[in-house]
Amino acid sequence: MICQDSWPTLSGYRELLLEFGVGDSANWANQNEDAIRSALAQPWWRLQFPGGLESRFDQSIADNQSKQTRNNYFLAVFFVNLFGTADYQFLPDVYLTAWLIRFAIITPMFMMVIWAEFYSKAAVRRGIATMALMLVTAAGLMYPVTISKSPDVVHYQVGVVVVVLFSNLLTDMRFALALIASVIFSLMYLAEITVFLNLPSYLAINYVLVMFSTVSLSLVATYRRERHMRQVFLMLALLEVAEQRQMVANERLRLLADKDPLTGLANRRRLDEEFPKLWREAMRVSSPISVLFLDIDHFKLYNDAYGHAMGDEVLKSFANLLRESAARRPLDLVARNGGEEFLVVLPDTPPSAAAAIARNFLTKLAALGIAHDGSSYKVVSASVGIAGGVPLPDESPESYIEQADQAMYRAKHNGRNRVEYA
Ligand code: GH3
Ligand code: MG
Ligand code: MG
Repeated sequence: MICQDSWPTLSGYRELLLEFGVGDSANWANQNEDAIRSALAQPWWRLQFPGGLESRFDQSIADNQSKQTRNNYFLAVFFVNLFGTADYQFLPDVYLTAWLIRFAIITPMFMMVIWAEFYSKAAVRRGIATMALMLVTAAGLMYPVTISKSPDVVHYQVGVVVVVLFSNLLTDMRFALALIASVIFSLMYLAEITVFLNLPSYLAINYVLVMFSTVSLSLVATYRRERHMRQVFLMLALLEVAEQRQMVANERLRLLADKDPLTGLANRRRLDEEFPKLWREAMRVSSPISVLFLDIDHFKLYNDAYGHAMGDEVLKSFANLLRESAARRPLDLVARNGGEEFLVVLPDTPPSAAAAIARNFLTKLAALGIAHDGSSYKVVSASVGIAGGVPLPDESPESYIEQADQAMYRAKHNGRNRVEYA
């Protein structure tokens, strides 16, 4: 029976959304809307989200970023080894050590981190692996400089800033870790310049400035990237919340537009939408379909005698009884036509069976015994017209309703409280 069965209550909100096939992420967003909104309002210096939000963010980064980050590592390890071609001429006294460090320590470590990026979804673990990789790489490139006697090492050592540039710009290391890694890197670099290389001060200052500006500028980029990713994450979640709201609102509107507010039955608009489909299907499979047109007897008198509010209660009881006793199959359709008139569509039912259903309904209505002094039956009754049959191409659904209406008038004419065929 098509009526208000699927009407959503607020408590049924979640079920309704699930029924729409709304994904887990939209449900998550919906349940965490307050946390998402307050995270959006966090001050600029606070990147980390509270609790569950942070782990969700980690997960989304892990899902979306890892592959891209892994490719960046391949690019980086390529350049690390490309620099190896310079070792032989730059550091003729220690080039074997330099190669050993590049090929036997740094490259395998890159491979391990690339592997970890592939298997570990935990952001902190990946971050620490990245940090360790960056520091070991930097130390590995600095070490040959500290033991070489070549006069060219001064020019050689400046290339190591590329390492920090990579880790700050092209990995998905969080800003906090990048900051720690950058500070350690800077201290190592300062130690190398001041303790191990004997440079005139104007050169030392220049190299420190190159390093310091590279580290600082790349850190600004790290911060901006992370903040941007976080805000996009929050806004996408809010967008999902909004979409979900819209969907529920649309569904509610649709149900409202189809429903008679007093009785909860389908209204005439809905019937006009559904009945032609049932009717055409009946024609397609050559199956009978019947229409009941019901009109409460002397209802004006009832209102006059008992008041409009009582009249409304009668309409509700009438509708409930109709729903329970005359429209029991899944495709049966009950609607309020307007006023004290109702329509029932019974697919796969010949008029004779429909008449039995109608008579049964009138018996039960009489048994309800709603007092009605203005009627000769002394209780509320109704007149019913029936039209039905196997639909033919030269007929129409509307003609069935018209015929049922005319039959109903005949029932009125013949004394009310009865059933008449078209
Ligand atoms: P008949 O047996 O010939 O059908 O007589 P009737 O009085 O039922 O028919 P009529 O069409 O003259 O009056 C219908 C009445 O139904 C008039 C109106 O006050 C009443 N009515 C229509 N809609 C509502 C409603 O929503 N609530 C109430 N309480 N009464 C309604
Ligand atoms: Mg009427
Ligand atoms: Mg009436």
